[in-house]
Amino acid sequence: MSKLGPGALREARIDVGAIEDNVRHLRRLTDAEVIAVVKADGYGHGAVRSALAALAGGATRLGVAEVAEAIALRRAGIDAPIVAWLHAPGASFAEAAAQRIELGISSFDQLLQAAAAATADRPVPVHLKLETGLSRNGIPPDDQRVVFAEAARLERIGKIRVVALFSHLSNASADDDLAALRRFEEGVAAAGSLGVTPPLRHLAATHAAIALPQTRLGCVRIGIGIYGLSPFEDRSSADLGLRPAMTLRGAVAAVRRVPAGQGVSYGYDYRAERDTTLALVPLGYADGVPRQASGSGPVVIGGRRFAVAGRIAMDQFVVDVGEHPVAVGDEVVLFGDPTLGAPAADDWATAAGTINYEIVTRIGPRVPRRQVSG
Ligand SMILES: *Cc1c(COP(=O)(O)O)cnc(C)c1O
Repeated sequence: MSKLGPGALREARIDVGAIEDNVRHLRRLTDAEVIAVVKADGYGHGAVRSALAALAGGATRLGVAEVAEAIALRRAGIDAPIVAWLHAPGASFAEAAAQRIELGISSFDQLLQAAAAATADRPVPVHLKLETGLSRNGIPPDDQRVVFAEAARLERIGKIRVVALFSHLSNASADDDLAALRRFEEGVAAAGSLGVTPPLRHLAATHAAIALPQTRLGCVRIGIGIYGLSPFEDRSSADLGLRPAMTLRGAVAAVRRVPAGQGVSYGYDYRAERDTTLALVPLGYADGVPRQASGSGPVVIGGRRFAVAGRIAMDQFVVDVGEHPVAVGDEVVLFGDPTLGAPAADDWATAAGTINYEIVTRIGPRVPRRQVSG
């Protein structure tokens, strides 16, 4: 990979070709419609570029948490269907309706709020979300018949259009997810008996879409997989035929020769065992590099793998490169595609006691995203 540009301290390189390929691969694998989940700024990759790449790869709809995220995509000129499923209490859906945003509906009140946003010629599109065991949002089983009956009525009078029934899985175990699937199917049957028969059902996110074909239901909501990362502890991106889209890297900002015994970074958690060379990397926890990975986060410099020496600070950390020749400006790769020699985001997740989702999503706004298409 090329050096960073002159004057650049750090960047997250985003390979939109990888996102496009990952969607294409998952579409073929699941033989289902793909709702590409681009919430939280596309898991840190940039929501707009991720959405465009996913649509180019064959996704037919976008998913986000909040209406504000959906509206930002519309403002960027994206015309595809977008569903948003997490709403503030008492939220007005007027702007969402004006922008043709589809609303995930988790309660009777939200259903009424959605219907209230309808205009004379335009019903509000909704996806009714059923609680099937995750214990987050979703219409609880006891409320479902009342909500379905009202949804059928509102649909008949042109206030709403029910696009889908959906739910979300726990990934606790195959048995738990299949039990949730049964509860979902019961909800679908109850909805049908009350006249709610939408064209779509969607239940599986990346984990179940890959591991539990029964949950695909012709439409899957894929987040982490489109970014080329694995939701499984025991299967890598490559095992799944996916390519990580984000490479986080910096340019060595300073190199210093120090004697044996020299303390490194705050608190001297690390001391040089022998005379050595230290390289300064200009990425810190303000950039989303987890401080919990102090002393263990992996980097690759000049084809060699090293660990962070001592504490990760707000803006920078230090690597003990021993006698390895390293110069100011050399590329330091924190994570990327391991088949190309980079550490994996999963390695940082292990070092920090978290998951790869968090590693990419928390990369901060001070890290310029550089879009490439590899
Ligand atoms: C975030 C989210 C997804 C995507 O999950 P992945 O595990 O990243 O595929 C799907 N559905 C809902 C409701 C979500 O909140």
